[in-house]
Amino acid sequence: MITPDKELPPELYAVARKGGTEMPFTGKYVNNHEQGMFRCAVCGTELFSSDTKFESGTGWPSFTEPANLQNIELRHDTSDGMNRTEVICKNCGAHLGHVFDDGPKEKGGKRYCINSVCLELQKKDQ
Ligand SMILES: [Zn+2]
Repeated sequence: MITPDKELPPELYAVARKGGTEMPFTGKYVNNHEQGMFRCAVCGTELFSSDTKFESGTGWPSFTEPANLQNIELRHDTSDGMNRTEVICKNCGAHLGHVFDDGPKEKGGKRYCINSVCLELQKKDQ
């Protein structure tokens, strides 16, 4: 179920609907190492597995690949004068973050840099 915009917390609305970015090292999942599935905070779609999370040192949760490519949309983003690829939840259109090509080479070389506020961890034992 997609949470209506007016019911979203302001910090989530600012990122998911306005394309904002949370301050580095402030997100609740930056240093989280619990096992489970990270779901979209707006609609609950499965986005990233903790198995693909790695320490990037950037201040945002980083993943080498999405749990299911069908659940995300990649869009060319030239805002802020930069040339980036935006990562979007396919189900609800929420802006999640960006994907870069400087991830761990042995895992495919991708770094999905995702805002904590857009994620909700469903722990493995729940
Ligand atoms: Zn979503």
